[in-house]
Amino acid sequence: MKKIMETWRDYMKEGESLNTIIFLDMDGVLVDFTSGLVNVLNIDISGDVEYPRSRGKKLGKIREYHGPDRVFPITNEFMHNLLRKKDEEAELTQWEKLIKRYQFSPITGNYEHWLNLPKADGADILIQGCIDLVGEQNVYILSAPVDDASIEAKKDWLAKHTSIPLERTFIRQDKGSIPPLFPDHRCILIDDRVKYKSAFEQAGGVGIVHSPKATAAGAANSLASLGNIL
Ligand SMILES: [Mg+2]
Repeated sequence: MKKIMETWRDYMKEGESLNTIIFLDMDGVLVDFTSGLVNVLNIDISGDVEYPRSRGKKLGKIREYHGPDRVFPITNEFMHNLLRKKDEEAELTQWEKLIKRYQFSPITGNYEHWLNLPKADGADILIQGCIDLVGEQNVYILSAPVDDASIEAKKDWLAKHTSIPLERTFIRQDKGSIPPLFPDHRCILIDDRVKYKSAFEQAGGVGIVHSPKATAAGAANSLASLGNIL
């Protein structure tokens, strides 16, 4: 009898796992977005290339600014902190405001930039860990785009670096729109941004904040969190 109960429990457990879909964010989880961004920002700020119109004006203000809060070269930590403050709607310093206004200029309409972003440390381990937990068919991508060029590049990046097919890829801003599409499943999102975790949970999903961003330690932490849920 004991044996039957154990087998039944295993069966139930497996059944639950099969009904779970894991959605993986890209930037900050599978993709080292920040390193790529920091690189182009530092090149633009220290270089002598002049850009027309608003991009040139914004960059000029950055180059001219020498207040005490100026951090240069810009670091990954600086950008992570800026993004966190932005999401929390915290007060920004003058230097942070200047960088915030400029940060998307070099990567807008820039397919090559998005395609060539480095894979995050731990990305492969995280994907494989998710596959082991819920099965390959239940591992999806959920990534918010910046513009059309980023959408195309994200799809091509996935084809280049992962085995997750287009049919299981959602590139959309409204992450909360996903759980209602899978009413018979438990949806789990692994994302580095608290605002997306919140949107996903408000829509009935479960969110895990991937931290530290784009690192092997972050992958280990997210897999541990998944282990506690599944
Ligand atoms: Mg992200």
